[in-house]
This record gives sequence, C-alpha cells and structure tokens, in this order.
Amino acid sequence: MTVGQWGIRVPARQGEEMRQALLREGALDASLRVIRDGVFLILPLTGPREGAEHYEFEAHPGREVLPRHELVGGIAIMQDNDPDGAEKILTSRPSLHTVVFAEGEVHGEYRTREFRVLAGEQTTRTVVTEHGHKFTVDLAGAYFSARLSTERQRLLEQVVDGETVLDMFAGVGPFAITLAARAGMVVASDLNPKAIELMLENLGTNRVKNVLPILADARRLGEILPWKFDRIIMNLPLAGTEFLPEAVRLCMPKGTIHFYSLVSAKGEHTARIRELGGTVLSEREVRSYSPGQWHAVYDIVVK
Ligand code: SAM
Repeated sequence: MTVGQWGIRVPARQGEEMRQALLREGALDASLRVIRDGVFLILPLTGPREGAEHYEFEAHPGREVLPRHELVGGIAIMQDNDPDGAEKILTSRPSLHTVVFAEGEVHGEYRTREFRVLAGEQTTRTVVTEHGHKFTVDLAGAYFSARLSTERQRLLEQVVDGETVLDMFAGVGPFAITLAARAGMVVASDLNPKAIELMLENLGTNRVKNVLPILADARRLGEILPWKFDRIIMNLPLAGTEFLPEAVRLCMPKGTIHFYSLVSAKGEHTARIRELGGTVLSEREVRSYSPGQWHAVYDIVVK
C-alpha cells in the first residue's frame, strides 16, 4: 500500500543527519519508508515545509499509518475533524500533549485561527524548539509558523554583527529572537497584545536582552521610533505593498528590507519597490499557498 505524503529530497550522504534533525523536530513520518532515488533519499514528513513536495511512500509493515497532521511543538494540527485519528496520533507520538483540529482559516488582523481540541490536554499553548531557541506559542492567540525556521536562519546568516534590526510584524518574536544573536538591537513590534505578552515570555526564556518589544500599529512606527534601521523584516504577506513606504522611511541608506508577500507572478512588486527607491537584490519563493499563488520574499536594498 502506498500513502501520499510530504517528503524532502536530500543527497544520500546527508540523509542520516537530516533524518535525525527531523526526528528531533518531530517532523519525520516514521510510519512510512524512506525512498531511495539514485544518489538521493526522500524522507517522509508529517507536514509541509520549505523544499518539500508530495510523494507516494510505502507504509512500514506493522506500523500504523497516521492521519495527516502537522506538528507545532507538542501539538499536532489535523485538517480533518477526526477524534479517532486524533487519539491514534496522540498514542503514537509520545512527545505530543494535544491534538487539535483547525476549524477555520487564518483570519483577521492578528492572523490567528480557531482550533478544537480533539485529544489530550485542553490547550493551544505549547513550546517549540527551533535551532537552540524555545518559543512558547499559543496557536489560537497569536500567529506562529514553524515552517519559517529555514527563513529565520537564512536571515541570521546575513546579519552583520552589531546591526540594528526592526521586525515590523514580529508575532511572538521568532525572527527577532533569532536575529538578536548577531544584531546590536532589535525592535520587534506587533499589534496583537497576546503576541507581545508571549514575546516577553520568550525573551525571558531565551535570556535575550537586546530586543525591544513594542505594542504598536506598524503604520505609526515612524512617529514612535527615533531611529533608522540597517535591516527591516516585513512578514505580513497578505498586506501587499501597503507598509513598504513606512519601511523605506525607517530604513538606513543602503539598508536591507526583507519583504514577504503573497504573489501570483514573479516580479509582481518590482516596479513599486523601484518607485519607492529600492532595488530588488533577489526574489524567491518561500512556500506555495494555493494553485498559482505563493509566498515570496523580496530582499531589497534601499538607496
Ligand atoms: N513574524 C511573525 C512570525 O513569523 O511568527 C508573525 C508574522 S504574522 C504573518 C503577522 C503579524 O503581524 C501578526 O502577529 C499580526 O498580529 C501582526 N500585524 C498585523 N497587522 C499589523 C499592523 N498593522 N501593525 C503591526 N502588526 C500587525
């Protein structure tokens, strides 16, 4: 029997290292067999992530095939309202405390969604471990995406020691806390009080002392902040280019803006960015969203 599941293709010589990393994250679907494809291996995943595609895997004989779900810390998120499946997931994965069903889409200014607990503890709060950091998240209270962990590491590699960074839509602080390891100062703002409350908790847990959380509408940051920044992160993909003029105003000359946006064509925002005085250094797909639409990140240098 084959099962359609997300998988990630890696060179066979990196296979064991990747398998261990996925296991630690709880992202490896151990009920399915790894596929060998020439000098590559395709490792089965419990959900989508950057670089993942859909493959047909053989089930491991004797191991129960679990219903599809995505892991965020100790919580499994199911797309189906399947209480029996939820119990199976909970008993098969000792690292989990809760299984939830995502009742609606991500919505509203705070970019949150509703969940129904199907099995385990009645909570939407959990702790996510990511590259040595621990983030407390509350899936119903504030936005968090584990799928952006690679993106956070990509940005960290670009940060020059001592830079000033502004995260305009910081959520519970995963970008801000990651980049604080190299930055001199990070200002992390969000409109959602619950996100700021969790960010404060995360700053304490990770002993980070150079992040300044601000509860504010990004539209007002120019009035509130007396500084300009070397690097600005704009992760509110549905907003399009609405906040770009504010980001350009807050950016140092020759500073960098990482602008995330939902697009349906390559180069969709290039003309607007040029108009505002920016040069697009690169534009890449971060993940697909729907047929014909994807989340792109534009790395922009401001004149
Ligand atoms: N960067 C965070 C992350 O990766 O986990 C969160 C990104 S989430 C897609 C967007 C965040 O922007 C949400 O936490 C939401 O509350 C916040 N937000 C939405 N509109 C805003 C605004 N006008 N000003 C400030 N924050 C806003």
